[in-house]
Amino acid sequence: MMNGTLTIALAKGRIFKDALPLLAHAGIAPLDDPETSRKLILDTNQPNIKLVIIRSSDVPTYVEYGAADMGVAGKDVLMEYGGDGLYEPLDLKIACCRLMLAGPVALKATLKNSEARMCIATKYVATTRRYFAAQGKQVEIIKLYGSMELAPLVGLSDYIVDVVDTGNTLKANGLAPLELIANISSRLIVNKASMKMKHEVVHALIARIAEAVEMKEQKRTNSRRPQAK
Ligand code: AMP
Repeated sequence: MMNGTLTIALAKGRIFKDALPLLAHAGIAPLDDPETSRKLILDTNQPNIKLVIIRSSDVPTYVEYGAADMGVAGKDVLMEYGGDGLYEPLDLKIACCRLMLAGPVALKATLKNSEARMCIATKYVATTRRYFAAQGKQVEIIKLYGSMELAPLVGLSDYIVDVVDTGNTLKANGLAPLELIANISSRLIVNKASMKMKHEVVHALIARIAEAVEMKEQKRTNSRRPQAK
């Protein structure tokens, strides 16, 4: 967090793509494309605003410790990160998906009645433990870093907890969504000291991005409304 500059942490891919129009509404345009550039710090059209491109699960860490003033992180990442070291002032309503318990279709019927201890593979270890603890269930959790859908197919676990969008990946692997754990979207997060020390610029930016989110939502509801004849 260099003085006089504002640093925003973002992950490449879906979040970056969906966040770009929101940043554009706030007058911020990166000068490089992270998909083609190897730069980890991107300059923008505004000399005092930089973007840092990092793994999505690292975004809360950079922002909490002040290495970035602000960031964009999925609610799934924030739930897993935990703690109260960050401000989360705005739901950006982008990269929407669902955090779900999923498993083989055959296990669907037995899920509610089964007394056996469930074995679940996931990268969301803390969130999964918390979800089942709230139901008074102790579960066995196997930590994975990716391709969770494979685990039940090879007998590593019975179930998985993962984010689901269309459900196509589950279906292609003979799995079905079983329980909704949380609806997920990306959030704007802000370092607590930056919120105070850079109050004016941070608040102005939040307000502009909030306006962009609102305008996008309105466009969406209008396009859903049946046309008057
Ligand atoms: P789908 O086949 O559309 O349900 O997409 C599922 C795959 O995409 C899973 O392997 C997820 O890890 C990943 N995925 C879907 N939505 C998101 C999201 N919003 N953020 C991160 N990963 C996602």
